[in-house]
Amino acid sequence: MIHIGQQTQCQWETAVTNTEPAPGAAKQAESSDPAVIEVRNPGTGQVVGTVPDESADAVAAKVRELRLFQPEWEAIGPEGRKEWLLKLQDWLIDNTDVLADVLQSETSKPRADALIDPAFSVDLTGYYARRAAKFLADDHPSPHSPLARVKKLTTVYRPYPVVGVITPWNFPLAMPVIDVIPALAAGAAVILKPSEVTPLSALELARGWAEIGAPPVFAVVTGRGPAGAAVVDNVDFVQFTGSTATGRKIAVACAERMVPYSLELGGKDPAIVLADADLDRAAHGIAFGGMFNSGQVCISVERVYVEAPVYDEFVTKLTAAVRNLRQGIDGRESKHDIGALANENQAQIVQRHVDEAVAKGARVLTGGKRAGFGTAFEPTVLVDVDHTMSCITEETFGPTLPVIKVADEAEAVRLANDSIYGLSASVWTGDKDRGNRIARQLNVGGVNINDVFVNLFSYALPMGGWGLSGVGTRWGGPAGIRKYCKQQAITTPILPTQQKELFWFPYSMPKLLFAVGAMRAAGARGLRRIDLPAVLKLKGDSK
Ligand code: NAD
Repeated sequence: MIHIGQQTQCQWETAVTNTEPAPGAAKQAESSDPAVIEVRNPGTGQVVGTVPDESADAVAAKVRELRLFQPEWEAIGPEGRKEWLLKLQDWLIDNTDVLADVLQSETSKPRADALIDPAFSVDLTGYYARRAAKFLADDHPSPHSPLARVKKLTTVYRPYPVVGVITPWNFPLAMPVIDVIPALAAGAAVILKPSEVTPLSALELARGWAEIGAPPVFAVVTGRGPAGAAVVDNVDFVQFTGSTATGRKIAVACAERMVPYSLELGGKDPAIVLADADLDRAAHGIAFGGMFNSGQVCISVERVYVEAPVYDEFVTKLTAAVRNLRQGIDGRESKHDIGALANENQAQIVQRHVDEAVAKGARVLTGGKRAGFGTAFEPTVLVDVDHTMSCITEETFGPTLPVIKVADEAEAVRLANDSIYGLSASVWTGDKDRGNRIARQLNVGGVNINDVFVNLFSYALPMGGWGLSGVGTRWGGPAGIRKYCKQQAITTPILPTQQKELFWFPYSMPKLLFAVGAMRAAGARGLRRIDLPAVLKLKGDSK
């Protein structure tokens, strides 16, 4: 068990102690001390650690301390930072088993899922460590006009001193790493506020940073919403991942302080299955896309639209794939495909979406109820659903796949776009050109053709939501690290300079006419470029 006190000493005995499901034991009890947060395994209900609910003053003090060390971190440059990030990568590899244990203890994920967070973290850390120098190098863009060629233009990328990263509970290690690493690589100091539901993995990351002896430019604060709000109140850039409701509050707070922010929020991702698709691949892919991590992925498949000619066959295949999933609690062995939900609140949302759909005439083909241990909910396929039901309009963030029959591609696109969210989507078709054409009609930040989640492992692409799914993007090659930088424009003379530039004071009409004529010659089109009379007309009455 892990107990983190105000002095942030970390001791843990065993993270995955009780693998026996405790029916109904997962209600998230509050600690009797409001300043202490109890972390529970949602599958067993067992308390696996405690962390402090840190005050706004404590958060502010940590940010002040980070500010002291950030200039040196910036000064060692991307090559200096690369060494530290690659040491952290080594640490992540060497500690993978322990990291997976801790992560499993606070999420009750299957072992295979728990191992994904460290693997992803290793991959992403290497990507930014090795490319930061290239991505942060000065740019020298070409001047827009021949007249400006007398200057050398330079864009410089300088980090926001302290970046605040606030994360949810669905990937307790990967969600922090996803944004902490590019911000550190940019030269910023980072304060991380992980979810109060799963803070232990984030504290492991801080332990790793300390154990490799890295400069103290990365700190974790634990706590509930007010601790997150205190982060927003003190940093120079906010990177938030979480619900749309919290994201909106953060946007308002950032606007008050005039600090930039980036929001990765909720989703309701559609999958479109066309009649020419490989139905076996589509069924297995969508079962994975909807059920991975019990559906608690921002880009989970949450709605499925199937062309009428293949609807029955697809639904039969999907239901079989979902029914075959093994649900339970793993120890270090990997015996299950899905586990429990993160907390009781999630389980109740899923149950409500299913119940409301059934009350309006939907049918449950498999699942539809609690799985009998902790917060777990059975993998569920729903049919006869429509756009009046909460299971289609609200983010579920659970193991449900509601399926809708559509007449054709046009109806599929129309219904897929009928959402307040716009995170990502998938299109399943035997014709890649058709898939690409449909992708361009979907109002979402990412589309996978004949696959799911691939955009989440493609750091060279931007990842971000449209509509209420977010503001800004993460990744996208250089953009993923430059977002944590202020951009500075520097102009330097190329030619020897004179005592005075032609256009400096004092003004005179001939100088003005010369300037206007030159700008038109350089930038206008056709005869207007050389229309001297039109320029001279500007003289007006001053003959
Ligand atoms: P949440 O919004 O409840 O909490 C997220 C974080 O914000 C937590 O650390 C929480 O303590 C903190 N917080 C709460 N109130 C705050 C405030 N006023 N100011 C600052 N911080 C505050 O979200 P959650 O329930 O932890 O996570 C689930 C949500 O996250 C889902 O909607 C899911 O779609 C979304 N999500 C999005 C992505 C993405 O990349 N788009 C990825 C994962 C999860």
